Amino acid sequence: MKLLVSAGPTREYIDDVRFITNASSGMMGYELARIALTRGHQVTLVTGPTSLGPPAVEVVEVVSAEDMHKAILERFEDSEAVVMTAAVADYTPARRIKGKLKKTGEEFVLRLLPTPDILSELARMKGSKILVGFALEAEELVPNAQRKMQEKNLDIIVANPISAIGSPSTTAHILLRDGREISVHDQPKTLVASTLLELIEELYSAQRT
Ligand code: C5P
Repeated sequence: MKLLVSAGPTREYIDDVRFITNASSGMMGYELARIALTRGHQVTLVTGPTSLGPPAVEVVEVVSAEDMHKAILERFEDSEAVVMTAAVADYTPARRIKGKLKKTGEEFVLRLLPTPDILSELARMKGSKILVGFALEAEELVPNAQRKMQEKNLDIIVANPISAIGSPSTTAHILLRDGREISVHDQPKTLVASTLLELIEELYSAQRT
């Protein structure tokens, strides 16, 4: 299977030294890429900045949501399954200030603009590709994830509580478009990644029989 995986946070620069980001470690995407490689898949990992050692797959390093958008779109056509584990920033500063913003002691208002929703864009060109998203939710975990799966036209969505971000383990509810729900409770992300990969493989084989 030709698998495209995104991972990690993005950085949205305010000036040349400060940026907006989030606590994503990239672990889920890196684990998924590593396991997929051992199972014989052809993997491309598009990753925001992380402190993890990259797996021995094709790795594309990006910084901002816009970079990730471009890198994923360029590789979408040649992929058969896309797993967006990345915690892509939803907003980015309207402009990047050159150099270093001076401290004035006055109130400072930062104008933010929405970033492109990569997964929604991919869904519009989905065809027979398998699309998998992640939903990190503070409340109503499963209902919110169900809604996102419908809205974004996904085959699978993985619902995680807020505590999952940056953590090596998580509780996860893997929801499939066919109505199945597979839950793992407080398990290492490696296990969540391998369970998810098995389900993607199952959908992939079912499409081909
Ligand atoms: O709607 P929400 O941001 O919660 O959806 C999360 C899913 O959408 C994740 O799979 C994430 O990688 C993806 N996403 C995206 N582009 C964005 C924001 C999120 O592809 N700008």
